[in-house]
Amino acid sequence: MKYSIKEEMPGLWFLDLRVGGEEQYIGAYIFQSGNEVALVEVGPFSTALNVVHALDEIGLPRQNVKYLLLTHVHLDHGGAAGTLLKHLPNACVLAHWKGTPHLVDPEAVLWKASNKVLGFVADMYGKPEPVPEDKIISVEDKMSITFGKCTFEVIPTPGHASHHICFFLNTGKVVFTGDAAGTYLPSLDILLPQTPPPLRLESMLKSIETLISLDPSICAYTHFGVSRNAVEILKRHHIQLLHWHECITEALDKGIAQDAFIDLISIRDLDLKNFLIHSEKLNGVKRGVELSIKGFLDFALEEKRKD
Ligand SMILES: [Zn+2]
Repeated sequence: MKYSIKEEMPGLWFLDLRVGGEEQYIGAYIFQSGNEVALVEVGPFSTALNVVHALDEIGLPRQNVKYLLLTHVHLDHGGAAGTLLKHLPNACVLAHWKGTPHLVDPEAVLWKASNKVLGFVADMYGKPEPVPEDKIISVEDKMSITFGKCTFEVIPTPGHASHHICFFLNTGKVVFTGDAAGTYLPSLDILLPQTPPPLRLESMLKSIETLISLDPSICAYTHFGVSRNAVEILKRHHIQLLHWHECITEALDKGIAQDAFIDLISIRDLDLKNFLIHSEKLNGVKRGVELSIKGFLDFALEEKRKD
């Protein structure tokens, strides 16, 4: 399965992993400073070898890879970690402590839950291989990692997952957003929420505010690519989440059928409107949008139940 590589800035490469043959769906970043290499996000098990081959193609020795930095342990972000460690002898995996048990024993909860939620998509991602416990760095809170001549700040950003973290690279002021700031398609300038159930709207909004306070120059999205208007796009996403919430709450109040929600939101959200025009080839992103609407729907129903 072929992948593609794009150099986003000196020493930073973005891989289109082409998971399931789909373009603009899931990516991973390779960063080099001095003789050290870090991967930010590694994609699912099924495309682990694409990452290894990309390192070879760029000319980065496998033994120089020091860190696999995971924003969270969902299959599309961290599923390749266990397999990659077999090819990268000096690498450790860094993730939030709430997520690391799922890396050590992916079978127990993560794989079963993913199958239930994602259905055939879980098979497309593949079952992750376990990560040895002694190869894991568990993050509890904010921390810094010195890396070559640079620093990665670990920024807790709960919301999409309770164990979600982002990485802020001081060189170039790059924030690796994982799923904390939605999906962004630079080729179409389309921004979409990443809010599968259970949606934690309050913490998600707060996390976006935290990212804005870093005053980043670049947002590096896993889904899918780089935005060089980082603060503007984070603010746009904050507003977008509030719009979606408002739309779905109003629709429920008016008794509108759930299958009309997507069209209803697209009247108010130009990003979604634009996406629906271009969604034909973007099946992976489209599935994400459907799950995101479900997240907002469950959230709004729960709010009503509490009223
Ligand atoms: Zn996720």
